[in-house]
Amino acid sequence: MSTIFSRIAAREIPAVIVAEDDAAVAFMDIAPASRGHVLVIAREAYPDIFSIPPATWLRVMALAQRVAQAIGRSLAPDGINIVQNNGAAAGQTVFHLHVHLIPRWSGDGALALWHPGATAPEQLDGVARQIRAALGDD
Ligand code: 5GP
Repeated sequence: MSTIFSRIAAREIPAVIVAEDDAAVAFMDIAPASRGHVLVIAREAYPDIFSIPPATWLRVMALAQRVAQAIGRSLAPDGINIVQNNGAAAGQTVFHLHVHLIPRWSGDGALALWHPGATAPEQLDGVARQIRAALGDD
């Protein structure tokens, strides 16, 4: 599978790359939510969290942590959101797994992630039972 992000990783199209290794590449988001918004991708074009092999995911997250720490040291944000969208319903627009590093400054209003809801404890139990069954840990 070839995507716009694999073409960036292969340097076939330009991007502002900040770090890379044999498994992952970090580059500046072209439409940043805040100053210093970086995307971290796997070199290989797995579409999402459901398809990426665990070892590759760990490599992506290792580079994401390295770059997040560098953002912390260099830009001194008040915080950083790590966002990773899977599926159009979750806001994914590029179907090549990527992790967003979004530096935040108090009161910047850069990102609204969710509105907290309300639920009953028995509903939590029911949903947890479904997830545990799929994990096969029971
Ligand atoms: P998603 O909505 O899929 O989680 O995020 C896709 C992100 O990729 C968006 O933040 C968008 O600005 C960024 N993006 C899309 N096309 C390009 C591109 O060609 N170059 C770069 N650097 N970023 C891109």
